[in-house]
Amino acid sequence: MGLGAENGVAAMAACYQRFDPAAYLQYNYTPPRADFERKDSIVPWKLACLHRAFTEGDVSGELLVDIGSGPTLYQVLSGCEVFNKVLLTDFLEVNRQELRGWLQDEGGCSLDWTPFLQHVCKLEGRRPSAWTEKAAKLRQVIMDIVHIDVHCPQPLALDALPSAGADCLVSCFCLESVSPDLAAFTRALGNIGRLLRPGGHLLLIGALGESYYFGGPGVKIPVVPLNEAQVCASLKESGYTLIRLEVYTLPQDMRVGVDDVSGVFFVKAMKE
Ligand code: SAM
Repeated sequence: MGLGAENGVAAMAACYQRFDPAAYLQYNYTPPRADFERKDSIVPWKLACLHRAFTEGDVSGELLVDIGSGPTLYQVLSGCEVFNKVLLTDFLEVNRQELRGWLQDEGGCSLDWTPFLQHVCKLEGRRPSAWTEKAAKLRQVIMDIVHIDVHCPQPLALDALPSAGADCLVSCFCLESVSPDLAAFTRALGNIGRLLRPGGHLLLIGALGESYYFGGPGVKIPVVPLNEAQVCASLKESGYTLIRLEVYTLPQDMRVGVDDVSGVFFVKAMKE
């Protein structure tokens, strides 16, 4: 990385120092964005993409790593039924703390994940009351919650993963919202790819056409505005083969003033 690129990355890290997990959850993981009665709500769309990807039969192995988990768990609710080990990761201690709060099940969580668990149970053809079993399963398979920096050539501590690497990576709204520009986004895709075994899968969800989001009251975080062609080109450049790209366009009433996102992409890809 040159000095200019290093400065850009350092400026992004500075933005994140005021990230507020509870506010972020409130903005993005309550209705209308997480309305399980509506088919066109953004969170049910994401959960359906992940459910499909994890149940098609080609994604398998021992270890699933979630890149830039933030304070959220929805992204591993399908994967925890397929993988015996799930590693959660984030750059910020406040987010890792929020996730530990849920893991320890002693109250004090900023968001109730029950409707998310119930919804994924329904997708799996189980009764909604099976959510307690899914919560127990998730708590059982989460092996750790660790620090990550996707801008480092080696994003995790050396001993965080077995030498063969992870069998699957999932990453949602992380790379484009922590990168100063498209080149940094592409580099970050390459960096996390080094954590994945050849033939392993990447499930990537991210924002389209977004230039900022709020990580808390007055905490405006810049985002690399991406289009579908750029996502595809970055994946190719970073050594992934695209299996599927799906796009969701935000209905007008999901544009609630917490960002300027226009759509969401879902990618299923494989490391070459
Ligand atoms: N995955 C969650 C979701 O789907 O809502 C959170 C996404 S949030 C927009 C971006 C996350 O990236 C934050 O949790 C933030 O702490 C994390 N982050 C910031 N800088 C990072 C870095 N250099 N490497 C990895 N993650 C980073």
